[in-house]
This record gives sequence, C-alpha cells and structure tokens, in this order.
Amino acid sequence: MKYLRTLFVIAFFTGLIALATAYLHGQRESRHTEQLWQESLQQLKHICRLKHSEYRNYAAHARQAEQDSLHRLATLLHTMSAASEVQYENCRKAINSLGGVFQIPIMPDKGYEDSDSLLSHAIQHKLLHHNSTTHNGIEQALKDGNRYVARMLTWCDASEVRQIMILQRELATDTQTVSIYMVCPTCGAVSEESLLPYFCPHCMTSSEEFLVFE
Ligand SMILES: [Zn+2]
Repeated sequence: MKYLRTLFVIAFFTGLIALATAYLHGQRESRHTEQLWQESLQQLKHICRLKHSEYRNYAAHARQAEQDSLHRLATLLHTMSAASEVQYENCRKAINSLGGVFQIPIMPDKGYEDSDSLLSHAIQHKLLHHNSTTHNGIEQALKDGNRYVARMLTWCDASEVRQIMILQRELATDTQTVSIYMVCPTCGAVSEESLLPYFCPHCMTSSEEFLVFE
C-alpha cells in the first residue's frame, strides 16, 4: 500500500513538472512569434506606404498625360496605378491579418516634367525596390515561416519585373500604337492583350476577370 502511495506521489509530481515545462515553453514560443510578427509588420507597413504612393502618383501622372493628349503614356500609367493599387490592398490585408493597422499617409499629388524622364525615373524606382525592399521582405517572410506574406510580396516582385520590361521597351520605341494592358485583380500581375495567358501565371485568376486598360 505504502509502495503504491509513493508511486502515485512520484507520478503526480512528474506530471506537474511536465505541465509547467510545457507552459513555459509555450510562453517562450509565443513571445518569439510576436517578435517575428513585429518585424514582418514593420516591413509590410513600409511596402504598403510605397504601393499607396505609387498608385496615387501614377494615377495623377496618367490624368496629366491625358490632358497633354499622350494617350499611349496615359494607358501605361493607368495600368501601373491599378497594379500598385491591387498590391497596396494586398499589403493592407496582410497587415490586418497580423493584427496591425495601416494609416493612410497624407501626400500631395506630384506632377511630371516630361514623359521620358518620368519613364526612366519609374524604371529606377522599380529596380531599386526589386533589388532591395521587396527582395529583403520576401527573404524575411520566408525566414519567419510566413508564407502568406512571402507569396504576396513575390506577386509584387513579379509584377514589378514585368513593368520594368514594358517601361524599358516604351523608352526604346517611338511608335504611336497604343498597347492594351491587363491587370490581374488578385495579385496585380500585368499582361498584354497581344499574348494573354488563360489564367494568371502567379495566382491562377481567370484572364476573363482581368482589368483592361486601352
Ligand atoms: Zn494574378
């Protein structure tokens, strides 16, 4: 009987120690996860501000290009603005999913000097973010194990690369023919009507849902 009681006491305390260890481990894990989320949140807020300012600026530039009767340029700028707006919305949703809130910055609309300098500035801006901000953001999200944010930023990067190619082609050409561009409403990918995939190659949204700019 005494032997059984000793066995029971040992089992009881062993269980108690195991429970306390599991609780402390859980607390440590939770603090670690919160810290990772804070890093991801800061990066997302930075990219979200960037996308917000891109979509506002490109829309203002497009309106100005229309006033100057530069329809080809206006169509491209409307396309870039729409792609940035989709990406801005995706960033904002990702911030909310991590428990954060995005404050919309107050900013004046910017004008532009001439179309060539506008296009080359846009290329430089997009190349810089392709090489640093977006690249670092994707690496950080993958390191944190946050595949949702990593995928969303990979969509941003794929769209930027496509836009850089289109902008470089625009700078090198003097044709007046207006291209028809399409923007995926889910991920912001940019396609051209001349060679359109049936589904978005990044998020598999049907091309029938794409936003059309012509
Ligand atoms: Zn897509």
